[in-house]
Amino acid sequence: KKNVFSGIQPTGIPTLGNYLGAMRNWPLLQEEYHCIYSVVDLHSLTVRQEPANLRRQTLSLVALLLACGINPEKSLLFIQSHVPAHAELAWLLNCYTQFGELSRMTQFKDKSAKHPDNINAGLFCYPVLMAADILLYQADLVPVGADQKQHMELARDVAGRFNGIYGDVFRIPEPYIPKDGARVMSLQEPAKKMSKSDENPNAYILLLDDADTILRKFRRAVTDSEAEVVCREGKDGINNLISIYSIVTGKTVPEVEHEFAGKGYGDFKTAVGEAVAEALRPVRETYADLLKNKDYLADVYTKGAEKARAIAGRTYAKACKKLGLVLPQ
Ligand code: ATP
Ligand code: MG
Repeated sequence: KKNVFSGIQPTGIPTLGNYLGAMRNWPLLQEEYHCIYSVVDLHSLTVRQEPANLRRQTLSLVALLLACGINPEKSLLFIQSHVPAHAELAWLLNCYTQFGELSRMTQFKDKSAKHPDNINAGLFCYPVLMAADILLYQADLVPVGADQKQHMELARDVAGRFNGIYGDVFRIPEPYIPKDGARVMSLQEPAKKMSKSDENPNAYILLLDDADTILRKFRRAVTDSEAEVVCREGKDGINNLISIYSIVTGKTVPEVEHEFAGKGYGDFKTAVGEAVAEALRPVRETYADLLKNKDYLADVYTKGAEKARAIAGRTYAKACKKLGLVLPQ
């Protein structure tokens, strides 16, 4: 079986973007692959977090991933900071990553523009920690949204460079970007991706928003001054809504255009809101049940981390040995 690795940061409640671009696809891979999924809490420290929030969001994210359908009998689910090899391998890889290549990362440029008072070294080295996450598990496939393409290229470059000097240590991972939903856009600024750390709550749908909130946010979604529900260049807002509606209902884009021919944006936005609320309802309900059982959640992430430490430890030791570091006896 091939290996799959992916992670999500506990920087807030996941959005519809995280769900359609990543989380929704993770359980679908469980039968065919050996899947390893992580709540990457160390990554979230690159932006200032309130400790009580971070703790709550981390546990909540474990429950949400289970609610999305990750089965801990089939997949590994763990919290990144429970496996020290992530930070350790990241250090080794830092020494094989150039300042110039990290300076070209668009996420670094975006996030440092957003937080000019906290452009820390962790934010700069974020892609190296992400490379370590993936390479530790010898992942073949990494299911991510389109925004992670550049980081994936870097992970491949660094792995290839390391292997080129020291022999085959890491498997070279491929990004696995879904055909639909890879880039869900903001409901307020549809040229920007939907992000859970946006300061405007109307810009995103959270997985835990109730049906009324979801409807209200879709009704307020920014569109254009025309009145035709068609997918066309320049109609960023409508294109985004059509794409969301098409994924959650399983209808094709022409079917959606046909369904709303002659109808106004108001009707369309309401229909999208209702369809999304309905699609997220089972996730929300299962999540509420899971959250009541803290012992079960602890059991899942404790056992997950144990297994992850064993796999990650092997790759880390191999990298150390190749570099000439003396291994503890
Ligand atoms: P942050 O702003 O804190 O980085 P985020 O919403 O980008 O939050 P991440 O934890 O960084 O969330 O990403 C988790 C996964 O969700 C990644 O695979 C990422 O590619 C995917 N993803 C994030 N935003 C979107 C989006 N708007 N559309 C599709 N996929 C997305
Ligand atoms: Mg992100």
